[in-house]
Amino acid sequence: MSHTPLDPDQVIRLYEEDGALLHGHFLLSSGLHSDTYLQSARVLQHPEHAARVAEAMVQGIPAELRSQIGAVVGPAMGAVIVAHECGRALGVRAFFTEREGGRMTLRRGFALEPGEGVLVVEDITTTGGSTRECMAVVAAQGARVVAVSAIIDRSAAGIPDFDGVPYHPLLRLPVQTWEAKDCPLCAAGSTAVKPGSRGLR
Ligand SMILES: [Zn+2]
Repeated sequence: MSHTPLDPDQVIRLYEEDGALLHGHFLLSSGLHSDTYLQSARVLQHPEHAARVAEAMVQGIPAELRSQIGAVVGPAMGAVIVAHECGRALGVRAFFTEREGGRMTLRRGFALEPGEGVLVVEDITTTGGSTRECMAVVAAQGARVVAVSAIIDRSAAGIPDFDGVPYHPLLRLPVQTWEAKDCPLCAAGSTAVKPGSRGLR
């Protein structure tokens, strides 16, 4: 399967069309408030859209790095489908790290070879915290992360640094966040809701 790779405008349009780019007043898992929320699962529920996004992510990685990738790994839940589709696009295996007792780990018999090149992926990165935890799991296996990618990097405080590992998000979409006490939406009298709440559109 081959398409023309999605350009950044087309990625945004896909999120809008799939109802994955939400506007409102949100309480993020970090505790910060925001007027924008990205729900990638609503794009990834369409296998054709997931495949197109992953193909564009893979195309965005320089060829000399791409050729070193033996496996794609991402942190569950958000990156499970992303990793799988990137693995399909690259013709390599793909799996995920997950939390066990709060600690990021590899389960289910997933393993990496010593020195094996790994692409670490995410759906959305903000601070890159879980991406870094996933990278540490890869390193603990003796494998090496050759590149990091995400569908959308939404960091407003500057692009995350992954210890110098090349980082190629498909799209940068800085999203403003506030501490509750500084939130202009709270000041205007509305109440922040957790994304994913029932009835949220
Ligand atoms: Zn607020």
